[in-house]
Amino acid sequence: MQHAAQFIGKKVLVLGLAKSGHAAASLLSDCGASVTLNDYAPENGNPLAEELRTKGVTVICGGHPENILDGGFDFIIKNPGIPYSNSVILQAEQLEIPIWTEIELAYLISEAPIIGITGSNGKTTTTTLLYHMLSIGNRNPLIAGNIGTVASTVASEATSDDVIVLEASSFQLMGVGQFRPHIAIWTNLYEAHLDYHGSAQAYAEAKAQITKNQTPTDFLIYNVDQPEIQRYIIDTQASLVPFTTQGRSVEGISADDVSIYWLGEPIISRKKITLPGAHNLENILSATAAALLYGCERSAIESVLSSFTGVRHRMQFVTEHESRKFYNDSKATNTLATKSALSSFETPTILIAGGLDRGHSFEELRSHMTNVKAVIGIGETADRLVQFAQSCGVSITKETETLKEAVQEAYNVSVKGDTILLSPACASWDQYPNFEARGDEFIDAVQLLNS
Ligand code: ADP
Repeated sequence: MQHAAQFIGKKVLVLGLAKSGHAAASLLSDCGASVTLNDYAPENGNPLAEELRTKGVTVICGGHPENILDGGFDFIIKNPGIPYSNSVILQAEQLEIPIWTEIELAYLISEAPIIGITGSNGKTTTTTLLYHMLSIGNRNPLIAGNIGTVASTVASEATSDDVIVLEASSFQLMGVGQFRPHIAIWTNLYEAHLDYHGSAQAYAEAKAQITKNQTPTDFLIYNVDQPEIQRYIIDTQASLVPFTTQGRSVEGISADDVSIYWLGEPIISRKKITLPGAHNLENILSATAAALLYGCERSAIESVLSSFTGVRHRMQFVTEHESRKFYNDSKATNTLATKSALSSFETPTILIAGGLDRGHSFEELRSHMTNVKAVIGIGETADRLVQFAQSCGVSITKETETLKEAVQEAYNVSVKGDTILLSPACASWDQYPNFEARGDEFIDAVQLLNS
């Protein structure tokens, strides 16, 4: 950790005692900063608070004291979930105290270059694909960010021989100052998180922060099939690497039905690719471009593409049983993701869907229901989904209480060659603590068919 000295004697306020706040406070304290951590929620015996106190961090929980900023702070590290309407943040803005998220700290501390991945969908899949390509290509990748490992912790342990593959959300990117990834990927842009960002424009501008400090020696890999992205990257200094799934293009990376092309030259046959889905082709292209730019051999990339069957819970191929293929897409918590999943299969599909009822419409799925031969509804929206499926002309529909029952029903109505897909188009919180638990239960239920 070569860059620790810059924090000696700095006064820092960390807002939010979650995993990343704890890690940031601990790291800054180790670097010689004077750290205060404040969380609105009561402490309730949280062991992380006690551990930080033993390091000399001042921990204040159970509210935001009115005078908390009186002592003067050099900067604030804000948990990405805390809104900018928070009273301390509003005051800090008036006092012109820089407000950063923890990925800024990761950048400042890191000896390793960073490859940053953002976008509305596909971040985790792209990050994981790229991580595997760089691993097989002997480039020493470390995975970090939204995907699960706290970026600043990873960055504090990284050396200049490593490269950090960082999944970055719009919330995290709102709070960057000097953050400058050597390679940035912007997968796509759809409307999301309007409650937090206030407008589609503010959301897109947050994403665009990924490239704001890049220079011509850096690269921005972006989805050229979405012209709206170009509006937000117009001022970038980075070298542009467009990707397109719409046929051969000479400027960046592209694909047609036959091949993937790098600068117009065919490099990998589409036949080698195991990961299904047109949307995943976007993720494959951007990860491949980043791996090539980072010096990976084509053979390393090809070996990943010919074996990678998906990230757990994201169009994950589970198994083939009695000539039926089972896919777990539990992460599909909105209709857009389920639409992508449905468009990935040409085989007759039995869709298991439903979950938390936010009152949202399923209309967006209508044009993708042509291959769907049956819909098995689960959770709070089971009845609305079944009604929707019937209105689309799906002849087999059923509402079920549990996923185990849903999998059994799906199997009962299937024939050889069918695909059975869990892609709920709804959040999981009506029945499960998270989408992972829902996906795990699906996998268990599928395994039971085998027993
Ligand atoms: P994120 O990390 O951005 O949430 P994931 O890779 O976890 O993205 O995928 C989330 C969901 O979005 C999955 O259900 C997947 O089927 C869908 N998805 C993945 N990549 C794309 C893409 N490039 N375009 C549209 N949808 C996608």
